[in-house]
Amino acid sequence: MGFRFRLASFFVVALILVQALTGLLVYQVTRHELIGEGKRRMQEAAQSFAHQFEDMADRAAASVQVLALDFALRSAVAQHDEATLSSALRNHGRRVGATQMLLVGTDGRVEVDTAGRWAAGSPFPYPDLVERSLQAPAAATVTWEQHAYWMVVVPVFAPDLVGYIGAAIPADNRMLVQLQQQSALPDNIELAAADATGRFAVLARGRDRSQLAVSLGANGRLPTAPAVVMVGGREFVSQAVWLRGARHSPRVAAVLGFSVDEALEPYRPVAAAWAGLLVFGLTVGLVCAWVIARSVSRPVEELASLARRIASGDYSAPDAPARPDELGQLASAFGNMAHAIREREARILHQAGHDQVTGLPNRAYIESAVQHALAARPQEPAALLMLGLGRLPEIIKTLGHVVSDRLMHAAGARLQAPAGDSLVARATETQLAIFLPGATLEEAMTAAHRVVEALGEPYREAELTLDFAPAIGIALAPEHGTDAGVLLRRAEVAMIGALHSDDAVVLYDPATDPHRPERLSLMGDLRHALEHGGIELHYQPKLNLQQGRIDAVEGLIRWRHPIAGPVAPDDFIALAEETGNIRRVTRWALGAGIAQAARWMAAGHAVRVSINVSARDLDDPELPNRLRDLLRAHGVAPAQIVLEITESAIMGKPETAIAVLRRMADDGIDLAIDDFGVGQSSFAYLRRLPVRELKIDKTFITHLARSREDRIIVSSIVELGHHLGYRVTAEGVDDADALAYLRDVGCDHAQGYLIAPPLQAQDVGQWLDPARWPLPAATET
Ligand code: C2E
Ligand code: CA
Ligand code: CA
Repeated sequence: MGFRFRLASFFVVALILVQALTGLLVYQVTRHELIGEGKRRMQEAAQSFAHQFEDMADRAAASVQVLALDFALRSAVAQHDEATLSSALRNHGRRVGATQMLLVGTDGRVEVDTAGRWAAGSPFPYPDLVERSLQAPAAATVTWEQHAYWMVVVPVFAPDLVGYIGAAIPADNRMLVQLQQQSALPDNIELAAADATGRFAVLARGRDRSQLAVSLGANGRLPTAPAVVMVGGREFVSQAVWLRGARHSPRVAAVLGFSVDEALEPYRPVAAAWAGLLVFGLTVGLVCAWVIARSVSRPVEELASLARRIASGDYSAPDAPARPDELGQLASAFGNMAHAIREREARILHQAGHDQVTGLPNRAYIESAVQHALAARPQEPAALLMLGLGRLPEIIKTLGHVVSDRLMHAAGARLQAPAGDSLVARATETQLAIFLPGATLEEAMTAAHRVVEALGEPYREAELTLDFAPAIGIALAPEHGTDAGVLLRRAEVAMIGALHSDDAVVLYDPATDPHRPERLSLMGDLRHALEHGGIELHYQPKLNLQQGRIDAVEGLIRWRHPIAGPVAPDDFIALAEETGNIRRVTRWALGAGIAQAARWMAAGHAVRVSINVSARDLDDPELPNRLRDLLRAHGVAPAQIVLEITESAIMGKPETAIAVLRRMADDGIDLAIDDFGVGQSSFAYLRRLPVRELKIDKTFITHLARSREDRIIVSSIVELGHHLGYRVTAEGVDDADALAYLRDVGCDHAQGYLIAPPLQAQDVGQWLDPARWPLPAATET
């Protein structure tokens, strides 16, 4: 059901309704008027009919009066000459149209009845007429046997009263029709009387044969005022008028009526014309409605299709010419809206793909562009250059984002020349990416060096002179990846490598990628190994240089990966720290180390066990409790356990770390500073910590034989450490000269391959024999 159809239907239905209502109204008004007029006329007609009817009866009576004056008849009455009488009566009766002639005696008894209805000697049934006849000829309408009659009575004088002549003249259909023909009377005229049961029966009727009296008098009474009655499906205006009667006869009424429908007959042609007009009007209305509906609905439909077009993303201007009306205004508003949407969409699209600061495409943009390019030419080489500005994080911290943004903007501008028409994008806040489709390694390298050169000149603004310090990572397609996201990440990894190396340009190397996916699964495997075995703690003996025996060991974790084989701690400890897995490692190492210390004690060996603890462990306030529980469970004295912590681990977050360290030191556990000398701690700072041991980093020990500086550093640390009450251990001792020197400067312990490599627990026993470690003669003397 379209809008147009509904609009047209509305017009047509409204038209039909108005026409029909008007027609009905006119019909009702006309009919009402007709009935009103009919009622007035009916009243007159009823009176006029009664007059005429009774006039005729009186005239008939007058005719019978003339008969009564006839000499022959009078003498026949006086002489009781029956034969003459009968023939005279019959002759006269025929003249006045009577069907019965009577001679009634002065005693009121019937003497002669030409019809033989009443026997001679029986009383005349209408004595009141006899009486009235003495004043004037009496006439009344009477009824018997379903017929109406005029009963006329006149006296006969010869010269004295000798009797009465009666005549019964039928008032029948013929008479009524005759009356109707003579004067303008309604079509319906009936004579009616009530029978013994009170129901009205029609005795005679005129032209129409509707039997109005039966319906009109159904309730036993006839209305003497005009009334509307339905008979045989037709409507009549009808009225009764009582006729003059005789006392002993049922009263006869005349019922008159005319049909309303017939009265409406003259209006039929008008109605027909009306109907014709209606049909014509409807047809014209229909056409007009359709045309109007179309003229209204077409622009609406056009607007709807325009809206659909806009919704589907087609923002072209409407092609229809502008209309001056409201719909035209709406259409032009639509057009403006489409235009505004198009502009906004373009802006949003640009913003979505571009960086506000540099105006360069953003990471999402370059990622999808590279993805498209790689998909289009999968076989061809391509290079992705990731440019990082080494000093940018520092610049952001010191000078804020406004300056760093300007620096980034300047870097983007300088890249335009060396990049040519290659795509340059801002990949992250501090990095720019350049995509070189079709570039080989050599071409990529050349391009990278041109970029470095372009950024060689420092950035200058007002008082500021800032080095760009560019570092470029290169990832090549397809060998480093065929996916844009992967290439971007790998170029970034290479760039980070470049930031930390002397070369400004570094090619991605899968071997050194700390983010290669294998490392993620490595952590899962590590957790599995910690729970199900595959990890062991090895112990590297520490030689007590004063006593010449092994009295301590350092626990070092060993992991044999089921597929990759042995994995060096340096390869997974840092990753475990990054990924939050280090606490599991530490818990496990503490458990293993303490259990082993208990076993050695049981075997009669007093061996201190050092366990490495990482920076992230010091955030764990549960660590002291856990340690205490383990010691109690294995019956190990706290003094048997040393925790090794690097300088940097404590320097990172002093308050929390120190609180945890204090609690453990209070429990009697010794703390050692691992890799001492390479970090940035100071003795002044260390004084505030519950530390009992320093482990001089192996970088100072390795070159001890050749480096005078290292010798001075080591002897200074030992001396100062002793002054402050620390035990001092030297790590990485792998040549005898170093060991001798350490002994000379009074270092407490030495640890290194020269003494022993990290050993399995069961192998440690044989190293514990003091006989293996003869003290040099020099020291003894
Ligand atoms: P670290 O604590 O400094 O451990 C000493 C490292 O030096 C060990 O390497 C050891 O095998 C090695 N080493 C021993 N003697 C010599 C020598 O004469 N010369 C040289 N050049 N090296 C020697 P390893 O076992 O590979 O451990 C590396 C690092 O992994 C350790 O350094 C330690 O920081 C960490 N690590 C090892 N086990 C654990 C552990 O259970 N927990 C934690 N958190 N870290 C551990
Ligand atoms: Ca250590
Ligand atoms: Ca160390």
